[in-house]
Amino acid sequence: MTTSQNLIIFFTILFCTASYAQNSNDVTIETLQLSNNVYMLVGQGGNIGVSVGDDGVFIIDDQFARLSSKIEAAIKKLSDKPFQFLVNTHWHGDHTGGNENMHKLGATIIAHDNVHKRLKETPKRDKSMRPKAALPVITFNDKLNIHINGEQVAIFHVNNAHTDGDALLYFTQSNVLHTGDTYFKNRYPYIDINSGGSIDGYINAVKSALILIDDDTKIIPGHGSLSNKAEYLSFLKMLETLRASVKAEIDKGKTEDEVANNPSITKHYDDLNFNWNFINSEKIKRAIYKSLNH
Ligand SMILES: [Zn+2]
Repeated sequence: MTTSQNLIIFFTILFCTASYAQNSNDVTIETLQLSNNVYMLVGQGGNIGVSVGDDGVFIIDDQFARLSSKIEAAIKKLSDKPFQFLVNTHWHGDHTGGNENMHKLGATIIAHDNVHKRLKETPKRDKSMRPKAALPVITFNDKLNIHINGEQVAIFHVNNAHTDGDALLYFTQSNVLHTGDTYFKNRYPYIDINSGGSIDGYINAVKSALILIDDDTKIIPGHGSLSNKAEYLSFLKMLETLRASVKAEIDKGKTEDEVANNPSITKHYDDLNFNWNFINSEKIKRAIYKSLNH
């Protein structure tokens, strides 16, 4: 990417006023341009990546079904080409909830094998099963390349990080990385142990992606605002620091409750506000403990 392209970063806030007025939940989809053809969309749930160009629209993750019309409207402002492909970075509902709607809009859904398996076999919160239209059609077990809109997009799986079906995507010309939920910016991550996640997988996921990126890479985290390599490295340091501290306590024979109730382990990062409503310091300590005692 050229320097001038690097400089073309601007915010466009798209207010979907029509649906906003009818909808009690006041989510707006914010669109941020990252390169000539790649955008980040922020609404509610996991951050969305979009590539537009002559070949059509390529989407990464789709938040919740109730937001699909707003997401569609935001994308239509970027391109009038058909929706071609949608990649799910993993199976969680705040990244795949719009799958059925996106399928109906023409997108072919792609994901890791385990995303297909979990979406197909796990009931939704209301106990219903997902329709076929919400499931990935193309699945892969290691890596996949998509050649679209003038560049190669490398999609690669990392083992047992946030879940057992995580994929990261790297746009090789745009120099944009979408990490899915293997990266929460400035927050404690959610290690979904019940879905195959682990602290060591998390650490390895970041290390795998670091091989591809440079100081100019724009990073779309699963949650949080647009990021960069320096912030990604500090996330890795946090993971490694907490892992080492919890491991030291385990080696001393401490129980999970003792670790969870020891404030010194997370104090440095608690002071930096890594706590958030879903993962507080107790939860991250318990998750790392369980992960290391598996
Ligand atoms: Zn997730």
